[in-house]
Parts: sequence; structure tokens; C-alpha cells
Amino acid sequence: MIKYVPEPFRIKSVERIKMTTREERERNIAAAHYNLFNLAGRDVYIDLLTDSGTNAMSTEQWAGVMRGDEAYAGAESYYRLVDTAREIFGYDYIQPVHQGRAAEKVLFPLLLGKGKVAISNMFFDTTRAHVELAGARAVDCVVPEAKDPARRCKFKGNMDTERLERLIAEYGAEKVGLIVMTVTNNSAGGQPVSMENVRKVSEIARKNGIPLCIDAARYAENAFFVKRDEPSCAGKSIREIVREMFALADMFTMSAKKDTIVNMGGLLGVRDSAAMADLVLRVKAACVSYEGFITYGGLAGRDLEALAVGLIEGLDEDYLRYRIGQMEYLASLLDDAGIVYQSPVGGHGIFVDAARLFPHIPAEEFPGQVLAIELYKEAGIRGCDIGSFMLGNDPDTGKQLKAEFEFTRLAIPRRVYTQAHLDVIAQALVNVRDYAHTVKRGYKIVWEPPILRHFQAHLEPLA
Ligand SMILES: *Cc1c(COP(=O)(O)O)cnc(C)c1O
Repeated sequence: MIKYVPEPFRIKSVERIKMTTREERERNIAAAHYNLFNLAGRDVYIDLLTDSGTNAMSTEQWAGVMRGDEAYAGAESYYRLVDTAREIFGYDYIQPVHQGRAAEKVLFPLLLGKGKVAISNMFFDTTRAHVELAGARAVDCVVPEAKDPARRCKFKGNMDTERLERLIAEYGAEKVGLIVMTVTNNSAGGQPVSMENVRKVSEIARKNGIPLCIDAARYAENAFFVKRDEPSCAGKSIREIVREMFALADMFTMSAKKDTIVNMGGLLGVRDSAAMADLVLRVKAACVSYEGFITYGGLAGRDLEALAVGLIEGLDEDYLRYRIGQMEYLASLLDDAGIVYQSPVGGHGIFVDAARLFPHIPAEEFPGQVLAIELYKEAGIRGCDIGSFMLGNDPDTGKQLKAEFEFTRLAIPRRVYTQAHLDVIAQALVNVRDYAHTVKRGYKIVWEPPILRHFQAHLEPLA
């Protein structure tokens, strides 16, 4: 076990959570058709479904909520947000939007269309969806080591730059409408991306005349890893690292529900608005149609204000040390117990290798979902499957696809849970591991919607 990094804050307001019995939880999960998304939040003890929008805001952010200026156009809170974001990222044009996928919806159709391809180290699911909705193809190009959970190496979220060059040559540079760097790489387990890798990708993008976009949901956690693990950046501040990385790209989309520590919000940025004047005009037009007037972008003035404060708090080095420290503490408890997860642990949660805990349960019976359900029954913990259940069916054949991994993701909300909660999570995993061989079968789907089925599907345990 490693030492827990103590919280650089104290608690001013608390929220009661209900304690339940195993019998109650078994009834709840059956009534939810064995889908954790169908559970009522009140029936969950420790909610690790996602780190998105589940953050605890600070006293300063709540004070900002009161200060929020609700003017339709040109609100004070808008200027505060834009000034703060410009200073952090060094970008000319900053557009608030209501969440990350809204930025994608506004930006991607302007750069992508039928016959085009977008290449990423790894697309987040809504990001992939918006590439496809724009008519283009989304291609993942992560380094091969990302696919081996037990292999510990740094910057497992990187782009495979050799393959990127091959892909561009194959498709032809004019067909590649966009390169997207997801930092940290969410789908690979919150794995960081190095400055060197972004620099290399940036050179390739510039050489080929392809715009480079950062998917910036977890940019602050990524900057912490860069400072810690990349010798050339060790002496730099988090702020300097962020400035340097964003200078390598042309634009960014951001879900502010992650590292910016708010419950709702997003941003879209364009670095050089003079060089991209036409794009900025079209971003503004799309934003007015989909999100609202450009100075509020689908958010209330109070949200803009909380976002401006959250941008600064999310980059605080003491906070980031504690935040990544939580992941490492929990990971070290799993190391002691011999439980395998995507390692080294990433920035926003633990991706437990459920296939190793339930080796007798095949992918078609969803081991990641089995572990998520057992953790709920055992301790009221809600995680989710990141495996074949989430992946779904082949759109052409309708057959179940087999995922690269069968993970159960335990995402850790920011500033919400304590060391004792993390101990409960680790103990629950150990308990489930110890009785895993008695869980003989997995689940079958008895009803599913055609797309993004994992959010709503009904399952039944196999006898
Ligand atoms: C969450 C997330 C998104 C989408 O953001 P929303 O705010 O959920 O719409 C996009 N990319 C990444 C990497 C994310 O983690």
C-alpha cells in the first residue's frame, strides 16, 4: 500500500447517502433489469458510474453561482470565462457550449463530411458518434501497449505516430479532415499522452495540412502526468505544460464536466482566429443554431462563472497531486491483492480486468457487467462495463462484437469520496474476487435499443 495524499481542502457541506442491505440491493438490481444505468441514484452507496459532472464544487464556485450575470448577451460571467480560458490555453477564440458533445456537434460538421476520415489516438464514444454523424469515418490509432492491461509503461495513451503516417498515406492527406488527440486517453483507461507525442503528431499534421484538435476533457490530469513522468517537462509548472501542449494544436473541444470540476459545461477553442477566420464565423453560426447565443452557449450565467473558477482550481498542483494520489492509493490496494487493472493507473478511475476475475465467463456473457453487478450487490458500489456489453453488435451482421478488453470501470468523482470510501471499494473487489468462482454464468440481453444499447438494455442472469 502506498501513502494516501491528504486532501488539500476541508468539507463544508455534506450529502447523506443511504446504507442498504444485500437483500435490498439484489432486489434493486433485478428491478433495474441488471443494468446499472437503470438504478436510482438513491439506491447506490458509492457511485463510480462516471467522473463526468459528478464533481463537488468549491465555496468559490458556489459564490460564483450567486455572482453569475444572466444577461442574454455580453454577460460579465462570459467575459470572465473567456479571459480565464484565453490566458490558460493561449487561444484567441473561446466558445462556451453546454457540454463536450455540443462542441463536437458544432465543430465536426465544419471539418468533416462524406468520404472524409478523422484519426485519433482513441475516440471517446460521443466523439466517434459525432464524426460518424458528420458523415465521416473515425479511426483509432493508439500505441499497441495500450492493449495490454498488465504491461506497465508510461504514456500508454499516445498516438502510434508511425501508423498515423501510414494511415495518412493510405487515405491521402486531403481525405483526412481532422486529427484528434484525446488527453488523457479516456477509452484506453485514462492513460496519459506525452508532450513529445503531441509534438510529433503536430509535426505530422502540419506537414500534411491537417488540422489538429485536442479533445481536452482531462487535460489537467494529463499535464500532471507529463510533469511527473516526462523528464524534459519536470521543471515546468502545470500551467506552462498546458500552454505548451495547446500551442501544438489548432483547436480544442472540451467537456468541462471532468477536469474543470463543474456539473455541466463545455468549451470550444480556436488558437489563431485570424488564420481561421472563416471557421470561427461558422462556429459562431452553428453555435447560435444549436446551443444559443455565442456569449452563453447553452449555459446559464452562473454556469459560466462556476466554469471560470473551475478552470483555475482544476490546474492547482496540490489538488492534482491529491487527485492522482487517490487513483494510485486505490491501485496500490489492488496490487497488494493481486487484482489486475489497466496499469499503471490512469487519471480518472480504475479499469479492472474483469476477464481475469471471471475467466470461466465468456465475452458473450459480459464479464465486465458481471463484476459491476457483483460489486453493487456486495457493497452498493456502482461501476460500469467497458467491454463487449458496451461495444454492442456489428452494424452490418448484427452479431455481438468481442471487445479488446473486458473492463469494469470504477470512475472516481472529483473531491467527493474519502480514503475510507476507497478502502471500501478495494475490500469489495477482494471479496468479489474470493467468491468469483461461485458465479458460474454471466448475463444475456433480453431487450436492447438499436444504438448505444448499454445505457438502456435489459439483461437476465443465465441459469
Ligand atoms: C466526456 C467526454 C466527452 C463528451 O463530453 P460530454 O460533456 O459528456 O458531452 C468527449 N471526450 C472525452 C474524452 C470525454 O471524456
